[in-house]
Amino acid sequence: MTTSRPPLLPLDDALARLLASATPVPEVQSVSTFDADGRVLARDLVSELQVPPQDNSAMDGYALACASLSGPGDVLAVTQRIAAGASGQPLRPGEAARIFTGAPIPPGADAVVMQEDCTVVSEAGDGRPARVRVLAVAQPGQWIRRAGEDVTRSSVVLARGTRLSPAGLGMAASVGQRDLQVLRRARVALFSTGDELVMPGDVAPADMRAGAIYNSNRFFLRAMLQRLGCTVTDFGIVPDRRDATVDALREAARQHDLILTSGGVSVGEEDHIRPAVQSLGALDLWQIAIKPGKPFAYGQVGAAHFIGLPGNPVSSFVTFVLLVRPFLLRLQGVHDVAPVTVSARADFDWPRADQRREFLRVRRNAHGGLDLFPNQSSGVLTSAVWGDGLVDNPPGQTVVRGDTVRFIALSDLLS
Ligand code: AMP
Ligand code: MG
Repeated sequence: MTTSRPPLLPLDDALARLLASATPVPEVQSVSTFDADGRVLARDLVSELQVPPQDNSAMDGYALACASLSGPGDVLAVTQRIAAGASGQPLRPGEAARIFTGAPIPPGADAVVMQEDCTVVSEAGDGRPARVRVLAVAQPGQWIRRAGEDVTRSSVVLARGTRLSPAGLGMAASVGQRDLQVLRRARVALFSTGDELVMPGDVAPADMRAGAIYNSNRFFLRAMLQRLGCTVTDFGIVPDRRDATVDALREAARQHDLILTSGGVSVGEEDHIRPAVQSLGALDLWQIAIKPGKPFAYGQVGAAHFIGLPGNPVSSFVTFVLLVRPFLLRLQGVHDVAPVTVSARADFDWPRADQRREFLRVRRNAHGGLDLFPNQSSGVLTSAVWGDGLVDNPPGQTVVRGDTVRFIALSDLLS
């Protein structure tokens, strides 16, 4: 018997094809800035004001004109007191203003001297300083936060396609946005295939029949989808039967942007995903040149996208973070979907490199290097629990302890 094997598809080609199909959802929603963490901005956010609105003090101390000082030890009259939220009067030569962090710099002052560099020489009747000796040399501009140094008027503070972070929410608030225009969440239908699968809680570990395994993929896939901000409909376990698979797909295609399945995408007799999707829509089965994670399916059922992940837990996990994550981010309008890759030192040997590009489960150690999980098998989920990142190792590349490798943190891939 001869089997014709399609050539392996490079990961970057697979990703490019997926992203080319990921047209962002069209609906825009207005949400409270409080509730917008993780959401994707639908429009550029343009500031109508400058931040800070005026020059203000970065310190508690004294605002003065440097020209009023001839050298350390000079004494100035303290003629006003300016707290945050107040506004000062013009300063005359020889005068200083008592000033506090965030308070506006009065006209005529060009520097702030911090209170630690001053001594009060005499006090007014109310106990406030009347005259102050300036012990330090002042430079024009010191301890002054300039108007507009954070945000200039009419500038784009957050670009459309930005996924909002907590700091982004603060930024939106700092330019007066109570509500934000965001894209709606992607709706994803998730199902697991495999007659061997059992749900935790349905059968106790001691009572598992031979050949049965717990459905682990369902748990991490659902969690990863939720972390990406998707709304998930979980169809549970779909039996390894053509009719059941077709029914589930037809139902899922109706209300969802993406149908995501795990398992059943190989070409064995028990793999029903391919014929079922093909009977309702279109499907490409890709053999992606990565390890773990070779079989991967992409297609359409009705208006919904379809992605079939391999069943092996680590393959499922790795193909999700490398391919499904960027796809779903783009579907939700995110512009920049590539994870950060950094150089790192391998504190391990990898003498038998694969001809495919490998994603090794590693962990950062306390010495600034990376340790390798000893068992890199695609069924060993422990590697993904133990690891805090992946080494992106080129095809055929052996690694010797001390080599520089490319590292992607899992924390970047799971958010
Ligand atoms: P498949 O892709 O369906 O051929 O499955 C490949 C391997 O992954 C088999 O050993 C399956 O038992 C296992 N597998 C498939 N789906 C799951 C799942 N949801 N949870 C855990 N293991 C799975
Ligand atoms: Mg299966």
